[in-house]
Amino acid sequence: MRKLDAKHEFIQQNVPISSLAWLRVGGPIEYLATPRSEEELVAALQMCREDGVDARPLGDGASVIASEPGAPGLAVKLSEPAFTEIRFESTRVVAGAGVKLGKLATATASAGLGGLEGLVAIPGTVGAAAVANVSTSSATVGQWIESARVATYAGEIFDVSKDELVFERGGSNLENVIVLSVTFQLEPDDPKSLAKRLQKTWIVRKKDMPELESGGMARMFKDPQGQRADELIAEGGFAGTRIGGAAVCESFPNLILTSDGCACDDVKRLLTLIETQTNERFHVKLERELKFW
Ligand SMILES: Cc1cc2nc3c(=O)[nH]c(=O)nc-3n(C[C@H](O)[C@H](O)[C@H](O)COP(=O)(O)OP(=O)(O)OC[C@H]3O[C@@H](n4cnc5c(N)ncnc54)[C@H](O)[C@@H]3O)c2cc1C
Repeated sequence: MRKLDAKHEFIQQNVPISSLAWLRVGGPIEYLATPRSEEELVAALQMCREDGVDARPLGDGASVIASEPGAPGLAVKLSEPAFTEIRFESTRVVAGAGVKLGKLATATASAGLGGLEGLVAIPGTVGAAAVANVSTSSATVGQWIESARVATYAGEIFDVSKDELVFERGGSNLENVIVLSVTFQLEPDDPKSLAKRLQKTWIVRKKDMPELESGGMARMFKDPQGQRADELIAEGGFAGTRIGGAAVCESFPNLILTSDGCACDDVKRLLTLIETQTNERFHVKLERELKFW
């Protein structure tokens, strides 16, 4: 019997990813670990190595979809209090990897610390945001990061300093580790003007976002260098294109929307269609933001 199959309070088996990911489709994930401490995380990684099972971090599930009938391996979700605290140390803020970026942006703005307010409307967790260096046209998360605490899949835990961190467009050198917490160095600012900037960001964002009564959504592609994926998709005439239960959002064409009964394969086929035709027509290779597990 695999070590992971024994009874562990923080490990579940066959958990439907549709309940954990924004797209609301996809098969179950073989194991889901929600460790309550770094020690439990290390123990889960150790069992994975001994059982020959792959581990991968899961944040808020805004950019992942599990294949059908199911995704093998263990997903590590850092949603327990040990990984969701926000600690203020003057202009420094340490946030657990499982903290939602929007919550962090609101908390830092209320504390009179500026920098993250432009990122308030980006879905997902701090850990995933650091790995993908999430950004808007005016701000990137990486520019405010001073250090990160990480775990390797071999179970080693250490801090990565600013000098060792590399943030680039849509990515970083944190891709092959599990981010446990991130330390930000922010700038003192007037809480009232920060609150206004937060509100403005929300209003501008909400304008184009679809209101979902059911189903799910996710962003499909990273912005190519010097271009915007949503503009390329709109120019290609894909806004509103549908395959099965998956459709391209009309108001924000880099979003894919899913309806009840959507299959993972519908999503895959729609992305492939857009990739192929964008490459043929505009000679641009779109890179997927949405990860298939
Ligand atoms: C409506 C909408 C709008 C969006 N707008 C923007 C935008 O303006 N700019 C932008 O940059 N992005 C945007 N995104 C993309 C999205 O917000 C990011 O991909 C986000 O970082 C996903 O966070 P998550 O916690 O949900 O990660 P998940 O979807 O759970 O995981 C995404 C990836 O990160 C990895 N990961 C998760 N947690 C960790 C961790 N602790 N350590 C290491 N790796 C980890 C996962 O293994 C996976 O590969 C948007 C998405 C949506 C749905």
